Amino acid sequence: MSLPVPDPRAIALVTGASSGIGEELARGLAQRGHGVVLVARRQERLKALAAELSSAYGVRAEVIACDLTDSDGRGELADRIADLGLRVDILVNNAGFGLGGLFHRSDPEAQVMQLRVLCEAPVVLLRAFLPGMVERRSGAVINVASTAGMQPLPNSAGYGAAKAHLLSLSEAVHAEVKRFGVTVTALCPGPVFTELFNRQDHPVERVPRSLWLHPDKVAEAALKGAERGKRVVIPGGPIRVGSALMRLTPRALELRLLERMSR
Ligand code: NAD
Repeated sequence: MSLPVPDPRAIALVTGASSGIGEELARGLAQRGHGVVLVARRQERLKALAAELSSAYGVRAEVIACDLTDSDGRGELADRIADLGLRVDILVNNAGFGLGGLFHRSDPEAQVMQLRVLCEAPVVLLRAFLPGMVERRSGAVINVASTAGMQPLPNSAGYGAAKAHLLSLSEAVHAEVKRFGVTVTALCPGPVFTELFNRQDHPVERVPRSLWLHPDKVAEAALKGAERGKRVVIPGGPIRVGSALMRLTPRALELRLLERMSR
C-alpha cells in the first residue's frame, strides 16, 4: 500500500475540494480514515463538506479558504497547517479550471490565471510538502492532470499545455522520490461530469456522453491507483484505450483530428 497509514497528527491536503473530483477525493480519503484539510475559494461549501466528513467518518476536517492564484495566500498554507499542529502526509493538487476556444482570441489575463492554478500552485505546494514526506520516508501525492495533457490540444491549447506540465512534473518527481517511500500519482481523467463545464466555451462537450465518467468513480480509481503506488491513472477502459491509440498516432494526424473534433 502506498497511501500512508492514517495518523491523527497528519492530514490529506486537498485543493479544489468544494466540488467535483476534489470533493470526491476528500470523501474517499476521509472514508479511509484520513483527516483532511480542504482548500478552495468557496468557504461555505468547504465547511459543509468538512462537517459531513467529520460526522460520517470521525476524522478531523479543517477548512482553509484560499484563492490559489494568489501567491501570498497559497504561500501561507504550509504555516497555517503547521499552526493547526498538523503535517501533510498526502497532498492532492486538484484545483483547476479550463479555458476553451481559439488561443489567439482568448483573454490573456485568464490564460495567466489558468497557469497559476494548474501549474504554479502544484509546484509551490509540492515543493512545500514533499521534503517532509521524503524525510519521513512516507507520503503520497495525487496530481490531477488530464488526458488533455497527453498531447497538444487545439481549442484548449493553454489548458492542454498546463496539464502536460503537471503530468511531466509528476512522472519525473515520482521517479525521483519513489526510492524514499513517497509516490506521486498523476490522475489523467477524460471528460467527467463536473462544474468545470459550467463554462460554455469548452470543446470537450462534444465528446460522446458514453465516455464521460462521474467524479466519484474517478476519485475511487485515483485512490486505488495511489494505494498501489501507480505513476499514472487513467480512469475508464475506453478512455484508456483511446489514449493508448492516440500515442501511436503520428502527431500531424493527431493534431488534425483533434482540431477538427474540437472546432
Ligand atoms: P470543478 O469545477 O467541479 O472543481 C474545480 C475545483 O477547483 C473547485 O473546488 C474550484 O473552486 C477549485 N478552484 C478553481 N480555481 C481555483 C482557485 N483559483 N483557487 C482555489 N480553488 C480553485 O471541476 P473538476 O472537474 O472537479 O476539476 C478538478 C480538476 O480535475 C481540475 O484540475 C480539472 O482540470 C481536472 N480535470 C477535470 C476533468 C473533467 O472532465 N471535469 C477532466 C480531466 C481533468
